[in-house]
Amino acid sequence: MPPKPTSCLTHRIGSGARAEPSAPPPDKHIDREGWNAYYEKEVTAKYACMSADYPRLEDSPAQEKYWKTCGTIADIKQGNDYNGKMLMHEEGILIAVAIENLHDGNFAAEWKGLAADKKKELVIEGVYRAVCVADRDLTRLTCPELTVKGLSGGGKYGLIKMLERLIAHDPTGNLRVSNMYLFSHPQVDHELSFTEKAPDLLKTVIQSLILARNWLIVKTLVGILEAHHNEPPTIHPNGRMGPHRSGKNKTDRHDGAYHPSQFNNPPKKEVPPVCAGCHAVVADRSVLRKCARCQNVWYCSRECQKKDWPSHKKICGNDSFDSTLLSPVAERPDEFIGCPAVALGFVRSPALWRQIWYLSKRDSQTQVYHLETTPKHSTSVNFSGYEDQLLFLVARRRAMASGSLPAIIVMLEILLAEARRLEDIGKKISPEKVRAQLEREYRVDLSARAIAEAPPFHQPTMEECEEEIRFSKQRIASLGGDLPTGYFRY
Ligand SMILES: [Zn+2]
Ligand SMILES: [Zn+2]
Repeated sequence: MPPKPTSCLTHRIGSGARAEPSAPPPDKHIDREGWNAYYEKEVTAKYACMSADYPRLEDSPAQEKYWKTCGTIADIKQGNDYNGKMLMHEEGILIAVAIENLHDGNFAAEWKGLAADKKKELVIEGVYRAVCVADRDLTRLTCPELTVKGLSGGGKYGLIKMLERLIAHDPTGNLRVSNMYLFSHPQVDHELSFTEKAPDLLKTVIQSLILARNWLIVKTLVGILEAHHNEPPTIHPNGRMGPHRSGKNKTDRHDGAYHPSQFNNPPKKEVPPVCAGCHAVVADRSVLRKCARCQNVWYCSRECQKKDWPSHKKICGNDSFDSTLLSPVAERPDEFIGCPAVALGFVRSPALWRQIWYLSKRDSQTQVYHLETTPKHSTSVNFSGYEDQLLFLVARRRAMASGSLPAIIVMLEILLAEARRLEDIGKKISPEKVRAQLEREYRVDLSARAIAEAPPFHQPTMEECEEEIRFSKQRIASLGGDLPTGYFRY
């Protein structure tokens, strides 16, 4: 059983003006359908009774006793700052997945063709996965969008329409969003609107409700798509699940299990396990340093503190409402040392952006490619031969810059040879998987016929080779170590 949320936030506020529900909801882990039906009924009843003159949270004296005990503005703001960044990160991932499904794939037609029962099952599974990660069942009471009927249908709150809205918001698919997307629903927008004269604490609480609500919607959409593809739930690629995890909730990365996090909880000051800069869980507390000014956030290093300062200074020791927390600074797209610029007219696919993300990781600096072995795991590739390695890097540069087909074919040939070599030592990597991944990454046809008809590959120039060798040296230098054995011998 996930631990009960300790914060009052969303506990009562989400239930609007309705009286306390009389019976508790069924346990979601035991009776998923019953649990879903309970919340659908509650949220539908809540918003059905809302009209234009329904009191906003600000105008509802009955709600005051709840939001007044939510915590200090500084604490809630700190959560909002973190959760806003996390929401943007999730949106970036969802948009990439949505583009792959809707634009590169055939998901819209597949979804339309599914039986009503199957859609129902997938929607409930999606909401269940989302709530398990958030551990905030009550956030459902601010999400009238999350019903089987709404998401299954072709209306405004249908799954496909919601995904398309996100793609339209930021169609780059580079696993980042340029700015935060917030789902709009007339009654919720009214309920959570406020006037300038509303107390700062209420405004800050409302901001946290908006973030929590959007996060649950985004996670639900991700969950439905994953469930449709029989994939395990996504764990955040950086292992970031929430800013303030207690030891009990600590999770391993990429293990595919459900992880209750403490999204939206105020920080537990006695447990400082996550660096506010890089979001890594820091096991060795002796290396953590506190922000000296507010004593509220922790960092694993001076670099992380410096990097986070432009963002943290907005909330550090500041006890007033900050509307900009709903428009966090966008993260830069991933790139690795020597990542080429994109040529005019070439659009990188989400799969290619994922490859770039893999390669940008510190432990990938000496690797040249990542083969996705399952939807959530990859194995890194590094060639044994110097010639192959250099040729691959030059081809990779051309392909990533312009999508050059002959360069992609060279990559394919080298990777297939590598797959055969790996098979010899007992690692199964099917040639078809290699081909399919490159096809996804570059949106090209790599059938035998397409390859036969492709223009020839121009041999690497001296400049290209020197450039790649220079970048390789920089990558290795960035690790602060010597060349791994078997790597380039200069
Ligand atoms: Zn850090
Ligand atoms: Zn501070």
